[in-house]
This record gives sequence, C-alpha cells and structure tokens, in this order.
Amino acid sequence: MVLSDQKPVSESPLVLQEIDEPKAAAGELRVKVNACAVCRTDIHIVEGDLDLHQKPLVPGHQIVGRIDEIGAGATQFRRGERIGIAWLRHVDGSCRFCRRQQENLCPNSRYTGYDTNGGYAEYAIVPQEFAYELPDDFDDEHVAPLLCGGLIGYRALEKAALPENGRLLLVGFGSSAHIITQVAVHRGHKVYVLTRSDNHIHRARELGAAWASSDFRDLPEKADSAILFAPSGRLVPPTLESLDRGGICSIAGIHLSDVPGLNYDRHLYQERQLRSVTANTREDARALLAEATAIKLQTHVTIYDLPDANRALLDMKVSDFRFVFVPHSALRLPHSLTFRFPEFQLSAFVCLPCKFSSASWRWSFFLLAVWSHSPPLRNRPTLPVFSVSQPPMDNRSFFAMRASSTPSARRAVSRGG
Ligand SMILES: [Zn+2]
Ligand SMILES: [Zn+2]
Repeated sequence: MVLSDQKPVSESPLVLQEIDEPKAAAGELRVKVNACAVCRTDIHIVEGDLDLHQKPLVPGHQIVGRIDEIGAGATQFRRGERIGIAWLRHVDGSCRFCRRQQENLCPNSRYTGYDTNGGYAEYAIVPQEFAYELPDDFDDEHVAPLLCGGLIGYRALEKAALPENGRLLLVGFGSSAHIITQVAVHRGHKVYVLTRSDNHIHRARELGAAWASSDFRDLPEKADSAILFAPSGRLVPPTLESLDRGGICSIAGIHLSDVPGLNYDRHLYQERQLRSVTANTREDARALLAEATAIKLQTHVTIYDLPDANRALLDMKVSDFRFVFVPHSALRLPHSLTFRFPEFQLSAFVCLPCKFSSASWRWSFFLLAVWSHSPPLRNRPTLPVFSVSQPPMDNRSFFAMRASSTPSARRAVSRGG
C-alpha cells in the first residue's frame, strides 16, 4: 500500500500498487512480511502531521516476517528465521548521543516506514543490526504491536521513573497503554486509566487497573507518575495537576497538539516534571520482548487484509485499538472450513492465534458466512472469506477479514522495499 499524497484517512490516501521487489543490500535482510501492526504514527504520517521524508512511501514499522534473502556480509541471522522490524533502523553510532547509550536521540537516525519503505507490503528490508529475534511464545500477529506500541510505552514507563509500588496514571488507552498496564501491574504498581471510551474503561479494569474513568476529577488520589498517550496537548495541564509532589509526566506520542498555557503553582511547582519520549533504543526492544515473555503479556488485535489498510487506519483513528495487517500470502486458510454446494458455499473461519489461548478457546465460535452469487461460486478461482470470532476477555470482536481476495486484488498487492 503506497502513500503518494498526504490526506485524511477518510479519503483513502493509501493506494494498492505493484512496485519492484526490494533486494537486500550488503548487511541487510529481506523478510517476507507475515504481519505488520498499525501505529498511530502511521496516521500522523499519512495525514500530514509529520512531513514526508520519502515519496511515494510504503508505511508500516511494526513488522514480523521470515528472512528470505540475506545481503552480502550479513551473518547474524539465517534464512527462514523469524525477525521483527521496528521504527528505528539506523543510527550513526558515533555522535555523543550514541556514545552515551541514547541512540534514540541520534540526529542521523532513520526510521522504518518513514525514511524508507515499511511493512504495508509483501516484503521489507532491514539492516541486520536493527532486526530483532522474536520470542516463540508469541505468534506473528500478536507480537507485532510490541514493536512500536509496546516499545514506546515501555520507554515512556522508564522515563516516568515510578517509585516502587508506585501509582501510575495512564491518559489514553490505546495499544501502548494496553501493553504497559500489564507490565506496570505485574511490577506491582497501582494503575489508574483515564479514557473516554466505555469499552476501554472496561478493558483497563480487566487488565488489572485499579481505577478507570473518563474524568480526571474522579481520580481517587494523586499519582506518582503519568504517561500521556493521547496526542492532545490540552490534556497536559490536567495530567500535571493529577501528579503528586515530585511526579513525572512522560509524553509517549511522536506528535502532540499545542499545549495550552501552564500555571506554575497548579501544574509544575513541587518539582513536578514534564518529559517527552523519543523513539526507543535497541536495548529497550530487547528488554521489552524479554519482559513480555516472562509475564505472558497479552495483545489482542483486529486483523485486516492488507488491501484494507485505509479502513484499518480509519477504524484505528476512531477506536485507537490494535490492528494488524496480514498479507494474503500469510493468511492461515487451513483454519477456514468450507462446504461446497452447487449454487453456494458455506464457510467458517476461526482466528488461529486466539484459538490457542485456553481462555479464548472456550469462547471462540464460528460465524458461518454464505455466498450465493452469480456467477456460481464453483467457477470462481478464489473464495472471499469473512469471519468473526469472539475474543476471550471482553466483548470486543476479534475479527479477521479477507473480503477482496480476487485474482486482480492479489496481483495488485504492493511490494515494499
Ligand atoms: Zn548517533
Ligand atoms: Zn509506531
């Protein structure tokens, strides 16, 4: 899916295009993409909140795939290995920031799906130094959101410098907050969540939040630290006001609307601090993947087929939950069941990733979809599949779609590079 002109996601800015297959240059790896999670930063790039660094551009920077081509001199991985590709993909290694373990601040850094093509495609390229081994405990779709949503939240949590058994306020409850709630609760912190959505309030409580509401005024006590996930500057003053003495607010977004004027006494005095968070280091990524494995972290994702990228971005903008694209080639068709009759087909489909978690298995069910179109389906070379299964822990639907699997659509799937 290629972006040529930045415009609102409601105007379908991403176009399905065939582009040349990328080649792995020296020191690089090429992966066949199995999944690419959607990030709010993608929306900022697509809509023009961030200037385009490359045009046309294939976005996407939370990529999971298997290595299918290895460039000269790249010896750290083997063909067929599964790796993750995240936002940071290059630093100079020599500036004063790199030398003091702050490579995320390197002025010569480059980013996946921004400075080079990303993962909304069948193939993606990464320098081997910026490829991550992924824990076997997670399948492709459920590990993908850790590669940015998880990472930026993880770094924001470190920057929030919570004391032991601290009280953490999360403002906004999207992909990052969903992940960081689990990490913070597991570390013994008390988590408070502020979010507009009733679904998210419900979800936050399920994940162990001690309090979740849509109104700052209901907060039961001051927090030691806060992380602002919502990209809204007007939320900065009330977040600072919710902090106890010495409290720290870290801002997790790459983009924030203007912050209104602050009142020194109400918002900053008593050594309260406001911090931004910029990208992540490779060490952050390794630490998060290790901790996610240790605490059996759960991500719940909605899966879209790659050509539905515009709709996924639009849905994310509205609901701010986790979405993952799956290229056609990676769809797990063995998990659909099809009955063929002369004039129609009956299909059932279940999400494989959720099926294997014991809780979801109890609740998963098949939705049967029936087609009886003309021309008769038996003459069609491919079968469109639409499926829904019930998620394990809340009432939000985990759904996977494959509504456009016509031969022409399959041919038109773009190739990143
Ligand atoms: Zn540097
Ligand atoms: Zn991101």
